[in-house]
Amino acid sequence: MRAVKMMPIIEALKRGKRFAVIAHIFPDGDTIGSCLALANFLMDHGKTVELFCHDAPPENLAFLPGIQNFIRPGQNGQAKSDAYDAVVCLDCSDEGRLGDAAYFLEQASCTINIDHHATNTVYADINFVEPEASSTSELVFDLIQEMDNNYFSLAVYEAIYTGIATDTGNFGFSNTTPAAHRIAAQAIEYGLDVDKLTRALFRNTTEARVRLLAKALSSLEMHCDDRVAFLTVSRSMLEEVGLDVNDADGIVNYGIDIVGVECAALFKEIEKGRTKVSLRTKGVVDASALAARFGGGGHARAAGCLINASIEQAKEQILEALKSMLG
Ligand code: 5GP
Ligand code: MN
Repeated sequence: MRAVKMMPIIEALKRGKRFAVIAHIFPDGDTIGSCLALANFLMDHGKTVELFCHDAPPENLAFLPGIQNFIRPGQNGQAKSDAYDAVVCLDCSDEGRLGDAAYFLEQASCTINIDHHATNTVYADINFVEPEASSTSELVFDLIQEMDNNYFSLAVYEAIYTGIATDTGNFGFSNTTPAAHRIAAQAIEYGLDVDKLTRALFRNTTEARVRLLAKALSSLEMHCDDRVAFLTVSRSMLEEVGLDVNDADGIVNYGIDIVGVECAALFKEIEKGRTKVSLRTKGVVDASALAARFGGGGHARAAGCLINASIEQAKEQILEALKSMLG
């Protein structure tokens, strides 16, 4: 089934010579992993690839081969989209997720959208959206296997494993598909070092991050008869420890892990009057539906949105929306 849906993409990738591959804003392991896997695969097949991301990739992914090649849209001096045979957006559920790379969609002769978010707005010329997939990296694995069954490299396996492991909470969330485990098994058979990747992806915090975590945890607020947990990361907390908002990744899980909590939200102050909200839920609340009320999206158990309001106002708005969703 996926093989049939992938055909137009395979044709475009085989036909073209020069590609732009785009990751989403505030990049995570899946968008970076899927971009690097596809880029390495295409380059190993003689193609030219340029990698774009609105924000710098997270530090803990620095071990991934090729990650230093990501550039900000517009920073290659000749970022005209018509220079590419196709522009491939990976793990980007809507145009807003492309940040400054969104202009590619207007200019490029062929745009391709590969994603696993149910909220994807099918904004490209060719759209391959599979909400049942664990990750976009799983879809890129399928694509690579379909294009060249004999090909695989450690660089590609590391990138794909990174995307799957990070999006599934190290093979623990409800999106952990049999395919996710099969691909991981294949990667390990090939020689991937699980200990090295687990350490890099999940167990390599810094003193500054632990201090940020301490501040965020002490901000814990419980609402709605202790079924809702709110955590906060303000600009001043970030400045005190010298980190930026991307370093708050994962903190929201401390809220959702509390027994009895149905919805946890982490409020990150991007700047004064702009608050990024990370949402996690258990069974009762659909996180992507909650995020969608504020123009965001994501998955049933993990979603996010950007609210143009202060942290306190954003909290009030989320709480108001939650009251009708908690049942
Ligand atoms: P996180 O809270 O880890 O940043 O994101 C959780 C999930 O929600 C991810 O799948 C991510 O792609 C999605 N997500 C987070 N923020 C936004 C947003 O502002 N818009 C959309 N459409 N999805 C988001
Ligand atoms: Mn993803």
